[in-house]
Amino acid sequence: MSSSAPLVDQFQRRITYLRLSVTDRCDLRCAYCMPERMTFLPRKEVLSLEELHDLALGFIARGITKIRLTGGEPLVRRDMIELVHALGRKLGNGLEELTLTTNGTRLAEFAEDLFAAGVRRVNVSLDTLDREKFARLSRRDSLPQVLEGLAAAKAAGLKVKLNTVALKGVNEDEIADLVAWAHGQHFDATLIEVMPLGEIEEDRFDHYLPLAVVQERLSGQWTMTPSAHRTGGPARYWDVVETGGRLGLITPLTNNFCEGCNRIRVTATGQLYACLGGNERVDLRAALRSGDPEGELSRALDVAMRIKPARHNFAIEKPGAAPALSRHMSTTGG
Ligand code: SAM
Ligand code: SF4
Repeated sequence: MSSSAPLVDQFQRRITYLRLSVTDRCDLRCAYCMPERMTFLPRKEVLSLEELHDLALGFIARGITKIRLTGGEPLVRRDMIELVHALGRKLGNGLEELTLTTNGTRLAEFAEDLFAAGVRRVNVSLDTLDREKFARLSRRDSLPQVLEGLAAAKAAGLKVKLNTVALKGVNEDEIADLVAWAHGQHFDATLIEVMPLGEIEEDRFDHYLPLAVVQERLSGQWTMTPSAHRTGGPARYWDVVETGGRLGLITPLTNNFCEGCNRIRVTATGQLYACLGGNERVDLRAALRSGDPEGELSRALDVAMRIKPARHNFAIEKPGAAPALSRHMSTTGG
């Protein structure tokens, strides 16, 4: 028997937000995210379209109201748009918001379709507006496609939020310009600290830039007033008087935001991670492939509620230290 009880963890946090990774593959190779020669999962390990759909319905039945599709790069998965259309039909019927996080390279192709399916907001990751730097950082010369994608998203009526990872010695000099550009386009902007997830070629410590430093620099040049805006997520927001836009800062390392956590993450292979910064995990693929998928899924979600930790324990402690967690952000989904 499946349950329709809301998802509440042992710390009485109500879980209403699912980040669902639809693929671990990606057409970029951002240096802080994955190695150049990334090993991707064999396709048979990844959930099928039907399984992703059933999984999402199982979550909606347990009170998940917001789903963010992510990856890897969600728009490189061939049947992704079918999933968006199928889930879009649940909007207003249990689901309140369907959104995605994308690197933007294929947005020009899909923006209108996404809007037609009911998506209203997208997060697009962009770390630099300098074509050469983009090519170096992502190991692909794709900035023109991303800019085209952003323009297409805007034209299709999608609200855009730009996500930028602040990187010492890489884009730190450009952050103010990038934020001002985003605000000029009527995009929200959010800055993120680099997190120690998965092996890469470089040492993340070398590029770790605490946002407290960035914030101090920005407030030297702009009038930033704390905003009451909250999304139930980890970002804290500032209104920037000079640009007329909103700036979010996500500081997993210098600040802890776990008390109000309302989210869980599922990888493309159906592994539920109760916390981005922990290894607590439940195998939903096994539940989906069992003789009683609905019942087993629901029971697995009850287990997830019991094992969700109080908080993450990220740290970029010292040069050369191993990543806090061996899995990459592209596995868990950002
Ligand atoms: N490919 C899509 C994209 O780039 O938007 C979605 C997946 S990506 C893993 C989601 C977000 O995670 C991106 O904004 C990316 O910059 C961020 N990210 C990846 N690795 C990270 C890390 N080690 N620390 C902090 N953010 C990271
Ligand atoms: Fe791909 Fe996103 Fe990771 Fe960049 S951050 S390599 S776009 S998954």
